[in-house]
Amino acid sequence: MFLSLLKIYSKMFQKVKIFAKPDTISFVLSEDASYFVIFDYEGRLNFILKDVRSYRRSFDNTFLCGDLYSSRFRFLSDEEGNSVFIELYSLIKGIIVSGDFEIYYTGGKQNDVLEVFEKISNFDYTYFLEDALRFRSVYKPITVLPPDQYLSLYIPLTEGCSYNKCSFCNLYRDRKFRIKDEDEVVLMVKGILDYFRKSLLTRKGVFLGEGNVFVENTYKIVNAIKRIKDLLRESEYIKFDIDNCFYGFMDTFHTRKTKEEMRLLKESGVRRVYIGLETGDDFLLSNVLLKPSSSKDVLNAVRSIKEVGMNVGIIVIVGVGGKKYKDVHFNKTVSLISSMGLTEGDIVYLSPIVEYENLLYKDIMDKNGIERLSEDEMRNEIFRFKKSLSLIQGVKVPIYRVDRFLYA
Ligand code: SF4
Repeated sequence: MFLSLLKIYSKMFQKVKIFAKPDTISFVLSEDASYFVIFDYEGRLNFILKDVRSYRRSFDNTFLCGDLYSSRFRFLSDEEGNSVFIELYSLIKGIIVSGDFEIYYTGGKQNDVLEVFEKISNFDYTYFLEDALRFRSVYKPITVLPPDQYLSLYIPLTEGCSYNKCSFCNLYRDRKFRIKDEDEVVLMVKGILDYFRKSLLTRKGVFLGEGNVFVENTYKIVNAIKRIKDLLRESEYIKFDIDNCFYGFMDTFHTRKTKEEMRLLKESGVRRVYIGLETGDDFLLSNVLLKPSSSKDVLNAVRSIKEVGMNVGIIVIVGVGGKKYKDVHFNKTVSLISSMGLTEGDIVYLSPIVEYENLLYKDIMDKNGIERLSEDEMRNEIFRFKKSLSLIQGVKVPIYRVDRFLYA
């Protein structure tokens, strides 16, 4: 196996180029860089690009395969993921053994590179499975993060969602809402740091899960953040600004924070608060999405967050209400967001609606005979929202696909 892979690779080109960055190490396996692989400094496989195929691997060994020239994607079966792993590690181990490579240091350190070579060389299939088990012993399945938070360290202070009944949302249906006590949080953070070790170098901040963490008592959140900061300071592998690195979801119907509480959150290091607006149309909110918030609630919450100097991430669901409500959804949503006073550092996410068989959204749409948007119409709608919302200066308007999230 080893030899045949080595033959394939040596036909591909002479010397493999290895780029040692501060957080990851990349092996470029073809002359035109259309085949490369990224590992973190724990030797954990993170990303593969092979021609037009990309593979992202999560810490729990889920692989998401995407096509560069289309929006097609799929999660690999366990068997497929295993064979990607076995083939790739064999190839990389062969390269390390052959010594036929050149290392380019772009921020990485020689000692770390030597150490990761050793880790990769020892990383066999059993370790691959055990590593995923270790991850699962620290975390319940992580269902979603906003895309700008994919590289955050996930620290759930709460479990589940304090509401959990929106018609379209299946994020936390498998768990009951609860707030973790301080001892549990401390134990969990220790476990997380122990699992990540040098993988912490890839992390860029802390996302406080789960659904609507800010529903928790503000003073308890501030206290938990303080404990988390103390623990993070003990790791030499954390390179982000510990004092100013916290993010999380907030609802606008159970959570009512005073200005003083918002100020406390900001002072404790919360930078951006994420709110699921979904739509600016109150009829759709209460009758189709079954979400007990209103456009006014969201507007007030956003203003109070911005008033103390934090940023917001607003999530809009594109395609909600199908063809019948397409224009009302668009007009009311754009008009509401335009009145929020968003500035540099704020983000508006466009999240295409995903329908799940077992959720009420589908029933409501079907019972009312509402036609869904076609693929082309959905694309046009995303483009229309993006064009209008991008006019708000300094605000980014990326796409947020909840159905292809992977914690990697
Ligand atoms: S959309 Fe948000 S508030 Fe509604 S059930 Fe999902 S996580 Fe909870």
